[in-house]
Amino acid sequence: MATPIVPPATIGMLGGGQLGRYALMAARTMGYRTIVLEPDPYAPAGSVADLHLRAAYDDPDALRRLGDECAVVTTEFENPPAASLELLARRTRVAPSPRAVAIAQDRIAEKQFLADNGLPIGPYAVVDRADADPELGYPAILKTARLGYDGKGQRLVTDGAEMRAAWRTLGSVPCVLERALLFQTELSIVVARSSSGGFAAFPVAENRHVDGVLDVSIVPAHVSRRLSDRAVGLAMAITDVLSYVGVLAVELFVVDGELLINELAPRPHNSGHWTLDVAQTSQFEQQIRAICGLGLGDTSMTRPAATMVNLLGDLWDAGEPDWASVFDDPRTALHLYGKAAPRPGRKMGHLTAWGDSPTEAEVRAHEARRALSRRD
Ligand code: ADP
Ligand code: MG
Repeated sequence: MATPIVPPATIGMLGGGQLGRYALMAARTMGYRTIVLEPDPYAPAGSVADLHLRAAYDDPDALRRLGDECAVVTTEFENPPAASLELLARRTRVAPSPRAVAIAQDRIAEKQFLADNGLPIGPYAVVDRADADPELGYPAILKTARLGYDGKGQRLVTDGAEMRAAWRTLGSVPCVLERALLFQTELSIVVARSSSGGFAAFPVAENRHVDGVLDVSIVPAHVSRRLSDRAVGLAMAITDVLSYVGVLAVELFVVDGELLINELAPRPHNSGHWTLDVAQTSQFEQQIRAICGLGLGDTSMTRPAATMVNLLGDLWDAGEPDWASVFDDPRTALHLYGKAAPRPGRKMGHLTAWGDSPTEAEVRAHEARRALSRRD
C-alpha cells in the first residue's frame, strides 16, 4: 500500500475545467499546494491553483515539471492524451491509472471491458467501415468512439443507409452503434476508491438530459432499494477489476426494471455537483482523499433531498442573469465557474436546491433557475 500523501504536498491537475476547479479548491482547503496544466489562460481552474502552467496537454516541458513537482497527478476532463498520462506516470503517481482513463475515453474499449467482465450493457456494434451493415436493429445511436461529450459526436439513425451517411458526417472515424433504448429513467452513481483500499458510494442520482446535455439531477433517485444496491454493486465491481484509484461515475439506464451501464467517467461528475452543498463530503474532496491514499469521507446527505440544475450559456440570451434572486431562498446555492464567454450549450454554472422531499427540492431548483431570467 502506498504511503499517504499529506499536506502541504503538491497535487497536480491535467485540465482546467470546472471539475478541476472544485477539486483544487478542496485540495487547497485541506492544505495542499496545487498546480494545473491547462492551455486556456481563462480556464475555471487556473485562478484557483497555486500555479497555472499555460501549455498544451502534451507539452513535454510542462508535463515534466508537473510530474517532478507533484506527489500525485489527476485529471478532470474527458480526453487527456494517453501519452501525457504515461509520461507523468514515469515520474510520479497518476490516479486514476492511465489504463483506467484509456478505457473510459474510448467507447469501443469501454464496451469491450464491460462485456468482458460480465457487466450489463445494451446491444451495440462497432462501426469502422463505410459499408458497415451490423445486425443490430433500428432506431440506433451512432457515437464516435473518442472525443464525444455532452451529446456531441452522436447521431440518431433509423436505418442502415442513414447510419452509413451519419458515419461519414461524423468524420469516418471508429464509432459504436447502440440500440436506442426506451429507458424508464437515467441514473448515475458516483463512487470513490482510495489507494488505501477504501470504497465509498454517494446516493444514486436520477438524471434528465436535454439535447444530450445533463439538465437536472435529483437525489435520492426515485428507485427501489434493490436497484440502488445493484448500482453500488456494479460500480464496486468496476473499481475492483481496475484496481481503480479516484472518483468514478457510472451512468446507467433503467430498462424493464433492470440496470444497463451507459458509460463511465473516470473523475467527478456533473451529476455529483449536489455533493458540494448537500453531502457531508463533496465528490471533489473525496477525489483528493482517494488519490492521496487517505481515508474516504462520509457520503451521507445533510438534507433529505437535493436537486441540481445546470446553467448553460443560453441563459444569457436576454442579458446578465439576476444572480441576487438565488439568495432570496436560503435553501438554494449558486455556483458559477468563472467562464468568460456564455456560449449556447456551454456549462457556465449550476444551482443546487434542497428540501424535505425530492419533489420539493426539484420545484425549488426550477423556480430559482426561472427567476434568473425573469425580467420585471
Ligand atoms: P456523453 O459522453 O455525451 O455524455 P452519452 O453516451 O452519455 O454521451 O449520451 C448522452 C445522452 O444521450 C445520454 O445521457 C442519454 O440521455 C442519451 N443516450 C445515449 N445513448 C443512448 C441510448 N443507447 N439509448 C437512448 N438514449 C441514449
Ligand atoms: Mg454521458
